[in-house]
Amino acid sequence: MKRFGANYIFPVCGPPIRNGIVETNNTGEILRIIETDSVFREIHSTQFFNGVIVPGFINAHCHLELSHLKGLKVKKPGIAGFIEAVTEQRESSQENISKSIYDAINQAYTSGTVAVADICNSASTLPHKQKSELFFHNFIELFGINPDVAEKTFGHGLNVYYEFSKHYPESTSLTPHSTYSLSEKLWEIISEHLNEKDGKIVSIHYGESMAEYEFLATGSGPLYHRYKNSNLPFIAPAGKSPAIVITSYLPNKVQALLVHNTFASTEELLSLNRWFDSLTLVACPESNLLIENAIPPLDKFEANGLNIAIGTDSLASTSSLSMLHQIMIILNHFPAIDFQTVLRWATINGAKALNIDKKYGTIEVGKKPGLVLIEQFDFTNMRPTYESVAKRLI
Ligand SMILES: [Zn+2]
Repeated sequence: MKRFGANYIFPVCGPPIRNGIVETNNTGEILRIIETDSVFREIHSTQFFNGVIVPGFINAHCHLELSHLKGLKVKKPGIAGFIEAVTEQRESSQENISKSIYDAINQAYTSGTVAVADICNSASTLPHKQKSELFFHNFIELFGINPDVAEKTFGHGLNVYYEFSKHYPESTSLTPHSTYSLSEKLWEIISEHLNEKDGKIVSIHYGESMAEYEFLATGSGPLYHRYKNSNLPFIAPAGKSPAIVITSYLPNKVQALLVHNTFASTEELLSLNRWFDSLTLVACPESNLLIENAIPPLDKFEANGLNIAIGTDSLASTSSLSMLHQIMIILNHFPAIDFQTVLRWATINGAKALNIDKKYGTIEVGKKPGLVLIEQFDFTNMRPTYESVAKRLI
């Protein structure tokens, strides 16, 4: 048995507990949460830490297989320039790709992440994931604007899906990349697959740029030029919007994670929230600032009762896989939002979106959420600072 005490415990399912102690068994299962009535009593075998203890973080959006693109050089601003840079610089040696994935998983683990919703285009992350203690939901991502190869693209995705399903039968999903990067033919095949059974989760990039709205509405703009330059056959869309695309092809029974939402209006998201049985908006603030120099109005989303979770996105567009760093960017950008709210986004909301909230997301008896210590905490304002460091305790 182990006991961890700190100035405050943030269980997430209730208010912070001053001088609280969390008791776990050797496997990390929470046995008891001890309130010491604000006066810390030395209880036998308690390790006391200066700082606050929170549940392990749920990274609701990442691309571990792009970890070798850390510090990616982007020539043109905006999403089209970013996609171009990723496409051009993605190739690397197997050794480099593999080492970068290994390092990235390690960094996520030590900085307090317990679960990762990871986008996969290949099985390159699989051997590293199998050796890791982290929970992974593997989203096998499909994209391709060339309608002539839609069947082939789906077939390739299905092979990767089966590969992951052998090891992660409950947490592998096929998913479309975005609202603008699939041919109608490919959308139709995916739609059929998603309609087959209940309980499917999709994670789609949504409303990340104005270019997305422009391309779908008029078939023009930076994304049109990007596709034109790639010399692939494609049919430019017209009279569409991101919401029209996803409600046309994603069955409303899927659990939908919409990633980014930087340029989506609250009204648009509220109507999608009514349409889908379950909807979570995943914010990747550092990536949004880097690619589009904008951040979604998370305060408005929260005030309207929309579910928000947090992801880091890949190391191609974020400086680290530290969830605390994303939390700090949000707190800094929205001073009126308190730490407890953002912590809920970074833990239980992501856990619910991935159906892992029975084990993760809150410090509650019977759960095994992982425990994370945040040091250098500002107790006056009850929030972390840029000097704060998150360390995994268990
Ligand atoms: Zn992404």
